[in-house]
Amino acid sequence: SKALLTPERRMDDAEASIRPLSLADFTGQKAARANLQVFIDAAKKTGQALDHVLFVGPPGLGKTTLAQIVARELGVNFRSTSGPVIAKAGDLAAQLTNLDERDVLFIDEIHRLNPAVEEILYPAMEDYQLDLIIGEGPAARSVKIELPKFTLVAATTRAGLLTTPLRDRFGIPVRLEFYDIDELELIVSRGARVLGIGMAPDGANEIAKRARGTPRIAGRLLRRVRDFAIVEDAPTITRAIADRALRLLDVDPAGLDTMDRKYLTLIAQSFNGGPVGVETIAAALSEPRDAIEEIIEPYLIQKGFVQRTPRGRVLTAHAFRHLGLPEPNREST
Ligand code: ADP
Repeated sequence: SKALLTPERRMDDAEASIRPLSLADFTGQKAARANLQVFIDAAKKTGQALDHVLFVGPPGLGKTTLAQIVARELGVNFRSTSGPVIAKAGDLAAQLTNLDERDVLFIDEIHRLNPAVEEILYPAMEDYQLDLIIGEGPAARSVKIELPKFTLVAATTRAGLLTTPLRDRFGIPVRLEFYDIDELELIVSRGARVLGIGMAPDGANEIAKRARGTPRIAGRLLRRVRDFAIVEDAPTITRAIADRALRLLDVDPAGLDTMDRKYLTLIAQSFNGGPVGVETIAAALSEPRDAIEEIIEPYLIQKGFVQRTPRGRVLTAHAFRHLGLPEPNREST
């Protein structure tokens, strides 16, 4: 069930089926959508390539989906790659020279781009030019290649890891936020229609509440609850069915799973509620520090279960209530 609630993409997600195809069908992210709509309309009116777009936000919030929608709304081709996949400058050069005017090139996880590749991306973004070094040693020479006026749409979960010159080259930075329950209810109801199963409003609410503010998780929970409903011969997903299915899958009413509860219980019981350093937590849970900081903590912090302080992680009263544990006496929190 750990995997059930991770926001990262998984091979078996089968997300294409419920993916929205237009800005109008895209639920939530109101500010981002309004912003994009204006820039897209302007680009279409002037016939020029859209300025480069950078989507920033946790996994599963719709960055890839929005990138595809941007290309679709512009009526141009969508080409897709990712930071870790582009090993050499030549790989990126090949991608760029294959684009048509105004096409969208999507680079996921752009913070994982290798620096040598990043170097050739700068002039490509700024002047639509490739500066390549051909050959080695004294025979090496530099060549300039004109590129079509394309739009780079990039996504990152870690804006802090981007170099400033790279970040500065995106004219349209867009930050995505966790979704609220109402928005997730809409996404779940719409997904149920696409999947061809009935969805009662309270059923959508029950799934939405446990989806950690993340459409990818909402979609995954929906598909699991749908399977459960099919086995039970239930034509419509109600709150009772959703609740039973999700409890069996070890997703608690706040959308916390076993690992989240282990994390919270550890701080509560072994460290008197904190403060405790993230390295210590990682060692005690036998999880990499990155996984703690990027997967477990963002939602727990957003939900007010835990706070990051200069001295370490501290559990809130809310967390103790959720765990059903008494709050300890702490000197200075
Ligand atoms: P990211 O690139 O940020 O990790 P994706 O764009 O791949 O996220 O979105 C994950 C899945 O969640 C998509 O397949 C899509 O079905 C769903 N999704 C994301 N945002 C929305 C939304 N606003 N409305 C409906 N479904 C969404």
